[in-house]
Amino acid sequence: MSSALNILKEVFGYPAFRGQQAEIIEHLASGNDCLVLMPTGGGKSLCYQIPALMRKGVAIIVSPLISLMQNQVAALNEVGIQAAGLNSSLPFEEAQVVEQRLLAGEYDLLYVAPERLLTKRFLDLIGKIPLALFAIDEAHCVSQWGHDFRPEYCQLEILHTRFPDVPRIALTATADAVTRKEIIERLVLHEAKIFLSSFDRPNIYYQIVDKANSRQQLLSFIQGEHPQDAGIVYCLSRKKTEETADWLNAHGVAALVYHAGMSPHQRLQNQKKFLREENVVMVATIAFGMGIDKPDVRFVAHLDMPKSIEGYYQETGRAGRDGQKASAWMAYGLNDVIQQRRMIEESMAQEKFKRTATRKLEAMLALCESTTCRRVHLLDYFGEKATFLTCGNCDICLNPPGTWDATVAVQKALSCVYRTGQQFGAGHLINVLRGSPTLRVKQWNHSQISTFGIGQDLSVKTWRAIFRQLIALGLLTASSEGYGSLCLTDASRAVLKGEKKVFLRQQPEQKQILVKMQSNESQLFEPAAQQLFDQLRSWRAKIAKAHGVPAYVIFHDATLRELVRLCPQTEEELLQITGLGIHKLDRYGENLIEILRSG
Ligand code: ADP
Ligand code: ZN
Repeated sequence: MSSALNILKEVFGYPAFRGQQAEIIEHLASGNDCLVLMPTGGGKSLCYQIPALMRKGVAIIVSPLISLMQNQVAALNEVGIQAAGLNSSLPFEEAQVVEQRLLAGEYDLLYVAPERLLTKRFLDLIGKIPLALFAIDEAHCVSQWGHDFRPEYCQLEILHTRFPDVPRIALTATADAVTRKEIIERLVLHEAKIFLSSFDRPNIYYQIVDKANSRQQLLSFIQGEHPQDAGIVYCLSRKKTEETADWLNAHGVAALVYHAGMSPHQRLQNQKKFLREENVVMVATIAFGMGIDKPDVRFVAHLDMPKSIEGYYQETGRAGRDGQKASAWMAYGLNDVIQQRRMIEESMAQEKFKRTATRKLEAMLALCESTTCRRVHLLDYFGEKATFLTCGNCDICLNPPGTWDATVAVQKALSCVYRTGQQFGAGHLINVLRGSPTLRVKQWNHSQISTFGIGQDLSVKTWRAIFRQLIALGLLTASSEGYGSLCLTDASRAVLKGEKKVFLRQQPEQKQILVKMQSNESQLFEPAAQQLFDQLRSWRAKIAKAHGVPAYVIFHDATLRELVRLCPQTEEELLQITGLGIHKLDRYGENLIEILRSG
């Protein structure tokens, strides 16, 4: 039995384990169950791939998405490991072949979709062969709360009942305690050892900006920070994804669309393009994402606020899996707050569900309005105590907003809501406060009320920020009647009576962002080195195309960069490069040395 570290070095070409990988591998390889909670990009796959090679028999990996399975299998085959996938996309004859090879003991790993795994036929089949382990990937799919819920996942306890001696590992990047409990219950993992990593993603720069003209803001962000990068833009509606992609394309950003209203064929096409080509921006609803294990997504942008921190963390987490610099950017405004509140109000859900949804939304709003480090705030939400007060890699740390005593302004706003009968939206209320004689003001005779014109000292922008924060703080609530009309809450009374002061976040003047994302680090090379890097990239593109896999499956950018930097000239030296194991040396060594020598 080769040791775990040898496999890591020789097969995968990595010099050392990361985080808790070594302990997890040791635990599982010795035949014990475990639950692994590790952020995206933490390196979960190796935690079962290496034990799969260490133990006798085949490892069965339950994976919820075909694309995810295909990429993993392709990457394993690239490093010379015998692996295959079984799912509904496979033609019958090919599935037959896989089953035969499985019975013949030819595989080290078999990826299988949950619905296929649960068939009697398949369970009987694997009953006949030695099994190394079961890995249940994306284990949070058991949770009815998340939008990744997969009913078949709830039946996976059968693995435990039918094969009690085969060790199991469940893995997820979902950080909240409730989901964790659900996984343990549903998969019967009460005895399993829990490996909980820090959920911090230090390479992601978090930024939440005030929404003004969000499309233009998005474009400036992409052009300024990520001109040549792959990224994901999330929108709430299908229509908005299409409009946004059109706009980006019209402005020279290559953008594709992905949402549940498209044909499966079209969706798959776009997803493939995003994975295979470089520098594509995917504009999508949250239907897009799970199973996107593209390591070099350099940014995730939100044009609409997600409805919970869980969603925000999961979506932004798709940036920078490779550990290199990446950004999470979001434009957030008054309408996001109103829209999300209304969606909860209008949903047909039971009261209990609405209460939970409201609590989650409020936590999300608090993150948006935060005056302290976003990262500390995020970690705190997931019950993790940060070891720092400021991270130095978020908008707040780099450009701290002040707070101001807004009590008087808030009293004016609340009283204006009251005087106008709690039936108007922020737009009209601001016109009344600022004394603008609009048609509507005349129609309702609102120039006659006492709050007309008492807020001329503040700009429209400031008033909008005030209203937004009042809703976020629960001092105003969006009524379910009439779009966006605002009502007082129980909490408003104390402020109106002058019993309570209100401090609001001062809008930091939108300074140009201080960090320049050096995402495209290749630009840091000198011209000669750059030329070599480009040569390697086009060589990689050719191989990837011939093998029908994304370029990163052949080599990550980081590996190419190391090749340029160290310029190895012998096989020995090549093996020192991160991400270059024995199999890839056999396959590509000569080619690489040739390119490196000529460069
Ligand atoms: P996760 O599934 O946790 O999101 P992956 O298993 O996809 O993460 O790993 C993320 C990236 O990190 C992959 O490209 C993987 O090859 C790389 N990686 C994992 N472990 C190591 C390690 N010990 N050393 C170097 N790179 C690693
Ligand atoms: Zn910070």
